Amino acid sequence: MDIGLAITGGIESLDKVNIAAIASSGVSSLLIGCYEDELRWQTERMAAFVLKARRSGLECYAIPWGYGRLLDPDPRIPSLYVHTWPQTLQIDNRGRRCPKACPNDPRFLEWFNSSIRTLAWLLEVNGFVWDEPSFHYSRGIWSCRCEYCQRLFRGTYDKELPKRLTPEVLEFRRHSIAMFLLAARAAIHAVDRRLRSIVMPPPLASSSFRYTGADDWALLADSAAVDAVSLLVGEDNESLIDSKMATYTDAASVVASRGKQLWVWVTSDLENAASVARQKQLATSLGAERLVVADYASLVELHGVAKMTRILADLAH
Ligand SMILES: [Zn+2]
Repeated sequence: MDIGLAITGGIESLDKVNIAAIASSGVSSLLIGCYEDELRWQTERMAAFVLKARRSGLECYAIPWGYGRLLDPDPRIPSLYVHTWPQTLQIDNRGRRCPKACPNDPRFLEWFNSSIRTLAWLLEVNGFVWDEPSFHYSRGIWSCRCEYCQRLFRGTYDKELPKRLTPEVLEFRRHSIAMFLLAARAAIHAVDRRLRSIVMPPPLASSSFRYTGADDWALLADSAAVDAVSLLVGEDNESLIDSKMATYTDAASVVASRGKQLWVWVTSDLENAASVARQKQLATSLGAERLVVADYASLVELHGVAKMTRILADLAH
């Protein structure tokens, strides 16, 4: 099983990353958060970091964050796009715009395609991770009811887009996310067809998961846009993880049955040998090809570089 390490601190944190220590620990890949607003102006710094990591034998994957916030698990991440293109944001069932671009809006798709193509062109990465692509949903408030979604729904179902989240609306949203992923994959393949495309759906066990539009693992794993699906395992304690194991196992078997890779992304602490062994056992029992540990900065803060290297080596060997 490969071990991946997430770098989430942005451009300013890159100078502090000890690539040699990471490479010597047996970690095989870096997953690097690429923030929209930083990458607009400082792509060269990111490109230099990726090049250095690749020369040290590490695979690199870009995770676009921001980018209209369609791919954004954290609403605090700034997105200049959201402010400059408000007319392309999702519209909720109260008629209000949400700070999240609509995947069916052709103006957003054009901008996204061009931004991601540029990123793929400038960064010599091995692939891209699409992190939690989703429609807005919060306590019964859902989107999107923009003119493009209404038009597409009418064209597909031959009726008006309902005001309630009916099974047809949920299906429509799932297919919209699947189409968006095809567009995202096409953008990176326009640069290099070897670039891999990985999707990380929102956390399986969250209460709003089934309203995100990215809740059908079979549809995602079936998609030609997806080479691997990443399972996000949050900061849960052992008993919580145990209670979710059946859900995780089902999701893993769906991915395996489609012949796609499963990655397991853990944010749990790696405080001691037992917690390291537990994360490894979890990923192994699910048949994961890669265990991604998040993230570098918190591991260094908790343990220092030397101990972090030993922990990662324990995971890798
Ligand atoms: Zn829409």
